[in-house]
Amino acid sequence: MKICALCNGPVEVIKDKPYEYTESGLDVVLYGITQYQCTSCGETFAALPKIQDLHKVIGKDICANKKALLKPEEIIFLRKNMHLKAKDMAKILGVNPSVYSRWENGKKTISDPYDRLLRMVYMACTAERSDCNDALTVNLFKNLSSKRKEIEQPSQIILNPQEWLLGDVTASGVS
Ligand SMILES: [Zn+2]
Repeated sequence: MKICALCNGPVEVIKDKPYEYTESGLDVVLYGITQYQCTSCGETFAALPKIQDLHKVIGKDICANKKALLKPEEIIFLRKNMHLKAKDMAKILGVNPSVYSRWENGKKTISDPYDRLLRMVYMACTAERSDCNDALTVNLFKNLSSKRKEIEQPSQIILNPQEWLLGDVTASGVS
């Protein structure tokens, strides 16, 4: 039997009550979640199954269905769901960390191109793997220098047959 984590009192099961998932930092309501309420102090608890998957679905919903520009709490949620630090997110988007932090703390609204880029990075990296620190998309953007105008690079691309004829093109093409 479950007991209350606050007062060790007995808890009762509450079914069929929508759960307001405020811990996410967002306005999310979940249906079909079993909740518990302490009969002595009134504290409520919920058991959320597969939280990682839940967060992925919430993140995708933000990216796909949110027509307005991303709000600070949504930007924070997406970044945390990618397991990235704010300074790395700034690097990936190619902006100064102070600019990025203003989008997260609400002192400035994110601009349309960066809103699009952030969604795109989120969708690409969560499709690749759950820990985005190792995702190809993330590493690609993170390692781009901020002084690329000064980089001299030959435009010629040299390829050997095995680079497109054999095996997994996405895996070999980037290495
Ligand atoms: Zn209690």
